[in-house]
Amino acid sequence: MTHVADSHDLIRVQGARENNLKDIGLDIPKRRLTVFTGVSGSGKSSLVFGTIAAESRRMIDETYSAFLQGFMPSLARPDVDNLEGLTTAIIVDQERMGANPRSTVGTATDANAMLRILYSRLGQPHVGPPTAFSFNVPTRKASGMMSTEKSGGRVEKKAVKQAVYLGGMCARCEGMGQVSDIDLTALYDESKSLREGALTVPGYSMDGWYGRLFEGMGLPMDKPIATFTKKQLETMLWSEPTKIKVEGINLTFEGIIPKIQKSMLSKDHEAMQPHVRRFVERAVTFQICPECEGTRLTPEARSSTVNGKSIADLCRMQINDLAQWVRDLDEPGFEPLLKGLRHLLDSFTEIGLGYLSLDRPAGTLSGGEAQRAKMIRHLGSSLTDVTYVFDEPTIGLHPHDIARMNDLLLRLRDKGNTVLVVEHKPETIAIADHAVDLGPLAGSKGGEVNFEGSVEELRSSDTLTGRHLDDRVRLKETVRGSTDALEIRGADTHNLRDVDVDIPLGVLTVVTGVAGSGKSSLVHGALDHRDDIVIVDQAAIKGSRRSNPATYTGLLEPVRKAFAKANDVKPALFSSNSQGACPTCNGAGVIFTELGVMATVESPCEDCEGRRFQDAVLEFELAGKNIADVLELSMSEAEAFFAKDGPTSLPAAHTILTRLVDVGLGYLTLGQPLTALSGGERQRLKLAVRMGEKGEVYVLDEPTTGLHLADVENLLGLLDRLVDSGTSVIVIEHHQAVMAHADWIIDLGPGAGHDGGRVVFEGTPRQLVEDRATLTGEHLADYVG
Ligand code: ADP
Ligand code: ADP
Ligand code: ZN
Ligand code: ZN
Repeated sequence: MTHVADSHDLIRVQGARENNLKDIGLDIPKRRLTVFTGVSGSGKSSLVFGTIAAESRRMIDETYSAFLQGFMPSLARPDVDNLEGLTTAIIVDQERMGANPRSTVGTATDANAMLRILYSRLGQPHVGPPTAFSFNVPTRKASGMMSTEKSGGRVEKKAVKQAVYLGGMCARCEGMGQVSDIDLTALYDESKSLREGALTVPGYSMDGWYGRLFEGMGLPMDKPIATFTKKQLETMLWSEPTKIKVEGINLTFEGIIPKIQKSMLSKDHEAMQPHVRRFVERAVTFQICPECEGTRLTPEARSSTVNGKSIADLCRMQINDLAQWVRDLDEPGFEPLLKGLRHLLDSFTEIGLGYLSLDRPAGTLSGGEAQRAKMIRHLGSSLTDVTYVFDEPTIGLHPHDIARMNDLLLRLRDKGNTVLVVEHKPETIAIADHAVDLGPLAGSKGGEVNFEGSVEELRSSDTLTGRHLDDRVRLKETVRGSTDALEIRGADTHNLRDVDVDIPLGVLTVVTGVAGSGKSSLVHGALDHRDDIVIVDQAAIKGSRRSNPATYTGLLEPVRKAFAKANDVKPALFSSNSQGACPTCNGAGVIFTELGVMATVESPCEDCEGRRFQDAVLEFELAGKNIADVLELSMSEAEAFFAKDGPTSLPAAHTILTRLVDVGLGYLTLGQPLTALSGGERQRLKLAVRMGEKGEVYVLDEPTTGLHLADVENLLGLLDRLVDSGTSVIVIEHHQAVMAHADWIIDLGPGAGHDGGRVVFEGTPRQLVEDRATLTGEHLADYVG
């Protein structure tokens, strides 16, 4: 690029060294769309998120007053010499929309706020202010308030009792839309005594404080629960918080049921530890709130209507139907409000989310859906000269939906914003004004700017990306025949229309269809509860902050033992949660500072300099490396290190490492915190672990997420090896190369939401392409060359 260094036109990066970046410099044109390409692990996120967006965020924070800054995390400066021409960065990523069960698609996008205004003005009968239609605001709360009054020249403070909040929250379910019922038989075994372990609720061990608490409350510890008096049973199950003194310490006892309600039911299911989630699923049944019928609202809020519909009716509608309903509203005097609302609802449809409803809990959206929902806020925004940063915005999108996403990215640019997109899909790379390719490979073999220039130039460049951009997929000559089938009958989860389908076993089956057609509903709804099926998804991995790929995969076990044996000491020394750990950071390598509502900040531990262990432990070596050195190796390096003919042969570790390299994670380091992994990386990590078990049927959800075109070939090789070794593999995918490689395709559609939910095609990829009868068939046919 022959740009003059002018900060009006350019973002200039000099000397970037975050993670694997090799002291790189580059210029990015402003108010243009720039795409960042390169194999996974090449350094795209380290540059775009870790350097550019991170520095922009940090600089914004520095503009606050010193007073405010005192309350805020001081963000570490990214490792970069110089950054010029930055503007405010808005990161639109795939983080799920969080655990708050009060957040819905409508509340998260401001659509509900607009509907509330509409109803407070137009609703009949008239009920009150906009908050009267909010299920997150309680109806009334008496509270003591100080009121300041001037009387006769004197200022008087006096306490008044006053009702504040005039909200629309259903009192029965507190705005949750559902009420819970707890199955007592799942809480305890009545033939046993407390001391014998009668309680089957996770976390209730009688050895610790709980035992003493129960005893302190006068509950018989050695009698079977069946013999408890009514009073005793009630204390155990329902007691209000009661303060008691046990061995001189003040403790609070609370009945098991209120405790469960507080500690377990208010949480996001996904965020629970697996054993707690299993317990909740067994013991607690949720029912739609009988009072508000799941609408979360008071009777008053529900009875007010506009054109015959209540606000609850609107929130239940599919958004594209709702948009039509609003378009049909003819209310003179309310034009600006209606125009704003129409605009907002139309953007859902444009972005491919028209099949959602506003009452959908935000936490149930997939990563791709969440990213698109977050984008909605910005489409209506009149901000200009902002830097928007996207992480694979096409995830979860059928080829048919990608064109619309592209339009939206261009629209943001045309408003005068800089748009930075990390992306692998050729259709989106194609629309960029400028391309930056990182590489040449991953991890320590990447981190350099491979290419900068136009997409046309990238196409003809001698880079992995360039060579693959025009790839056409080939249909297989022969497909595998099934050995058996999983019969799904009458599936009706969400939008599915009583679907009967046979999923063939012993083969690679790909489930396709536009976003919202029902792929996840079919695969998860029908298969989730089966023990013989291994679901490998992108959900967060639960674990401590010390968790890393080495602990998660079990790889650390044999490594610690080898260290212990070589040095004649205990294996526990080499575990970062034991006596060998750095006492300052407890083996995390970083210090976490909780900032209440603001977030948690992380700073490197100054004592061990991020190495996690005490100096004494680092004296012990294995083939010339200490434990911290080993944790800094990439999977590929470690595979060579522990190979049969490597510096130190360790077959147990080597087997696991080979699988990790196989799933395309060779560039990850053993000690990288799990919290730093992307959804795609998490899924591949889980796959590597699960491959060690003898699963019968594997289900994967968009395993190509985060994969470069060149990596997709490796993934296909891996899936083939799985199938050839007797595993059945079912994959939800939009990637044409994966579809073409399938033995069998099940295509859902024809549209999304209530326009979908049917099987529109079952057969081989070749039949799909020859028929060209579905959207998927058409798009795949275009890609087969
Ligand atoms: P990409 O976005 O191209 O997939 P990344 O920027 O995520 O690549 O990763 C580049 C390199 O930096 C990889 O080797 C990766 O393992 C490493 N890396 C990324 N994040 C971290 C982290 N938080 N700690 C240590 N290493 C990291
Ligand atoms: P796909 O996987 O093909 O994108 P989904 O199975 O996610 O499609 O969605 C199919 C339909 O089911 C959509 O209308 C969607 O809004 C609805 N749906 C999916 N998950 C939920 C859920 N947890 N709650 C309510 N509706 C859902
Ligand atoms: Zn209710
Ligand atoms: Zn430390």
